Amino acid sequence: MFATLSDRLADTFKNLRGKGRLSEADIDATAREIRIALLEADVALPVVKEFVAAVKERARSEEVSGALNPAQQIIKIVHEELVTILGGETRRLRYAKSGPTVILLAGLQGAGKTTLAAKLALWLKGQDKTPMLVAADLQRPNAVQQLQVNGERVGVPVFAPEPGNGTGNPVDVARASLEEARRKLHDVVIIDTAGRLGVDQTLMQQAADIRDAVQPDEVLFVVDAMIGQDAVTTAQAFLDGVGFDGVVLTKLDGDARGGAALSIRSVTGKPVMFASSGEKMTDFDLFHPDRMASRILDMGDMLTLIEQAEKAFDTEQSMKAAEKLGTKGGFTLEDFLQQMMQIRKLGSMTKIMGMLPGMGQFRDQLENFDEREIDRLQAIIQSMTPAERDNPKIIDGSRRARIAKGSGRQVSDVNQLVDRFFEARKMMESMAKGGGVPGMPGMPG
Ligand code: GDP
Repeated sequence: MFATLSDRLADTFKNLRGKGRLSEADIDATAREIRIALLEADVALPVVKEFVAAVKERARSEEVSGALNPAQQIIKIVHEELVTILGGETRRLRYAKSGPTVILLAGLQGAGKTTLAAKLALWLKGQDKTPMLVAADLQRPNAVQQLQVNGERVGVPVFAPEPGNGTGNPVDVARASLEEARRKLHDVVIIDTAGRLGVDQTLMQQAADIRDAVQPDEVLFVVDAMIGQDAVTTAQAFLDGVGFDGVVLTKLDGDARGGAALSIRSVTGKPVMFASSGEKMTDFDLFHPDRMASRILDMGDMLTLIEQAEKAFDTEQSMKAAEKLGTKGGFTLEDFLQQMMQIRKLGSMTKIMGMLPGMGQFRDQLENFDEREIDRLQAIIQSMTPAERDNPKIIDGSRRARIAKGSGRQVSDVNQLVDRFFEARKMMESMAKGGGVPGMPGMPG
């Protein structure tokens, strides 16, 4: 799921990398690429339009032009807009204040409703509930039996009409199930209704009749995410015919393009509440818009990192450092030390590196990273006189020996630091021209 969209967006952002300032043309090109990426992912056109317009507007604002790194800011904006179209906050189940909570499932045949009913029941058990499943799908042969098999797999009782009484009335079954739930002290009742192959008025009416009879706390529309835009059309029909409070997306493990997940909230105004992502009973969870957006952008915890970097890295300080590059004194060891301290503020270096996508392969190196390195660098710089910090060129042999002694390090450590500083300064200068991420040069390693 979302693989193509992820790749497309990654390419789009790659083109922005290293740009210090975004021109109108950059923004237009980015917007165009995002638009294509979303359309290819089968996102509904009105949703695409709204999305792209929002990103474009924000890309032109102060939020981006004043940002530490405009390209990263765009990624952050796209992430936030994705969270918004996915529904913002995670919508949790509403439980009844008294008596059993009634959850009614509706959806097309093959959507994965029966499987979902059992998964939801298992999930509820994990929430310390004592659910009961109700087989009110008396249309499809074997539907009752299938629910019973699934119920058994998750250890949840199934209320069903007597065998051989398959022509019973689903409204009566649903009503009777509530009595049973009260008697047996079940606190949640999950009613599986008959699916339909297409949008069918009679069956729609039946679901509406069950709804009226049991007054559910939540009506959940179950839809196969793999059917793409059709999911949105079907959702609209169910919204008109039965009405629902939330959506459950199934088969998110499929290799579909993900358009349903991205469109359904905006089109129906109803939140996606749960996601089902596999054949196993445990392949099911609450739907978290923020996590889904991060997954689409395939960026590990990159966003957390960007946010932390923004908080920790004092923009003013970096501006000062950048400005100094143009002055006579240039970037000094004092600035270098300040930058080290800024990096240190980001927290554990190992943790920072671990947040970057694709860093898993370097785990060994990361674990061997010695955080005390920054402390040692700091001790060396602090053993220098202000004149030496301002103008490292004057640090000759005898000064190096004195600094080494003062900081309790070897002369070779001092040499290394001075070399590194000059390297960092060179990097700072080229970055100031190219507009890359400031504040990261000379990282020990
Ligand atoms: P219903 O007609 O809506 O009750 O649908 P079923 O529960 O019978 O599911 C239809 C088919 O989809 C079955 O073969 C399920 O095993 C399969 N299925 C259901 N949920 C998922 C899912 O999340 N991922 C995958 N891959 N298959 C699923």
